Amino acid sequence: MSKGILVVVSGFSGAGKGTVMKRLMEKYDNYALSISVTTRQPRPGEVDGREYFFRTKEEFQQLIQEDELIEYAQYVENYYGTPRFYVEEQLQSGKDVILEIEIQGAMKVKEKNPEAVLVFVTPPTVEELKRRLTNRGTETQEVIAERLARASEEAEGMDSYDYLLVNDVLDECVDHLHRIIQSEHARSLRNTEFIETIKKESRQFK
Ligand code: 5GP
Repeated sequence: MSKGILVVVSGFSGAGKGTVMKRLMEKYDNYALSISVTTRQPRPGEVDGREYFFRTKEEFQQLIQEDELIEYAQYVENYYGTPRFYVEEQLQSGKDVILEIEIQGAMKVKEKNPEAVLVFVTPPTVEELKRRLTNRGTETQEVIAERLARASEEAEGMDSYDYLLVNDVLDECVDHLHRIIQSEHARSLRNTEFIETIKKESRQFK
């Protein structure tokens, strides 16, 4: 079985990435969503081992030292990182693995895995971004302001991504992401073995 594709999804806080990922998992089979480790406090309703593995700073440091994380980054006072084991296991089993991570982590993943596909999710407008972030109601004004400032920094890095995905109508956005990933499977670079087989076997017709 061919290996799965590593897909990195980033986007502004409030772009609706979480909702897009949830719907993608419900709607299509072949995806595995990586669960990150974080030092931030759980939001109401978040469960350890489901949205994140919630860990202390000391525990996080230990994971770094033991090389258990593919990448990690600091984001607004907290650390976030991607555990290596699950990602490698799922890719080997042929699943396309999605990492929903911020831009510094995305760049590190691309550096180490040039074949990874990077997708940037954005709301249609900046006003919409602000509205979504404020309406979520889970963050203080101060955190919202920090996240908006961070959005401005992240916007600078949008061109480094392979694809841009506008999240306006949820299901359209989800289907679009699915089509992007499916098209990536058809790239000749990802099918070198198959191409070699066809070349070799067709030589008999010469
Ligand atoms: P939140 O606190 O809103 O759940 O996440 C804050 C930011 O951290 C989001 O942009 C999210 O994509 C990012 N993030 C979540 N997990 C990881 C991770 O494992 N690594 C990195 N680099 N960023 C992450």
